[in-house]
Amino acid sequence: MAMNRVQFQKGLSMAGFLKHYGTVELCHAALVASRWPTGFVCPHCGETHHSTFVREGRQHWQCQACRYQTTVIAGTIFQATKLPLTLWFLAMHLLTQAKNNVAALELMRHLGVSYKTAWLMKLKLPQVMTERESSRVLEGRVEIDDAYLGGERPGKRGRGSENKISFIAAVQTTEDGKPVVACFARIPFTKEAVEAWAKKALAPSAHVLSDGLGCFRGVSASGARHSAIIMNGGTGREAAQHSAFRAVNTMLGNLKTAINGTYHAFDFRKYANRYLSEVQYRFNRRFDLDTHPQAPRSRYGNYRPMA
Ligand SMILES: [Zn+2]
Repeated sequence: MAMNRVQFQKGLSMAGFLKHYGTVELCHAALVASRWPTGFVCPHCGETHHSTFVREGRQHWQCQACRYQTTVIAGTIFQATKLPLTLWFLAMHLLTQAKNNVAALELMRHLGVSYKTAWLMKLKLPQVMTERESSRVLEGRVEIDDAYLGGERPGKRGRGSENKISFIAAVQTTEDGKPVVACFARIPFTKEAVEAWAKKALAPSAHVLSDGLGCFRGVSASGARHSAIIMNGGTGREAAQHSAFRAVNTMLGNLKTAINGTYHAFDFRKYANRYLSEVQYRFNRRFDLDTHPQAPRSRYGNYRPMA
């Protein structure tokens, strides 16, 4: 199913949220405004002339050129939903405003829906977050580190556990080490996997700092410069404490808090990608004005169908 990109904004109080998105009509209008900011455009042929009608309680647009009929939720994650838009918007609000990840059980309580419904929403919304983050490319100074989810806790490489998932944490920083954006990728720690990741996630202008773990040599496949900071004690924990890795260490600390504070029973194998995306998405949007200089029309702006 085609997935729409929905962009959420932080910094909205619950009162403000209810004022702007408290009714189905307001939510619908917000979707229309962000999907068609300059008026209806036929998703089929690009024509703007149209008529509208209501069928089964839902507003439809019909293109005057090709007669194509559509609704504002067609081709989005809301398409087949029986839930009112207000509940979806509230779920998006809760997921994006939260400091930590939100578990399905918490969503269930807040929304007054069944566990199954909350669980399905928890499946779909982070999927959109993942899509939105999938083209993220880091440039300039980038700290990277290898880490695990699962076992006793997320953290540095440690002894094996069947439920452990390896991932790379990468943080683009300013030249003086302040974090800008982050990227997590669930990959095995092999040179080939790091190469494939680097080609996708690193700009050739990137200067990558790692603790010298062998597989990180793969980052140069993207054209990026790589500096391994090797401490006297070799790679690993000691190097990771080095101030060159302050941003990525902080990020991993936050990730640990976000996940430990939320999930009791956690199938890392199955859901690691979504949970990592959820954290990445929120982190990369913590300063709206910095990351989105063009203010979207709706607070949930940039609502575009994806090819
Ligand atoms: Zn058309």
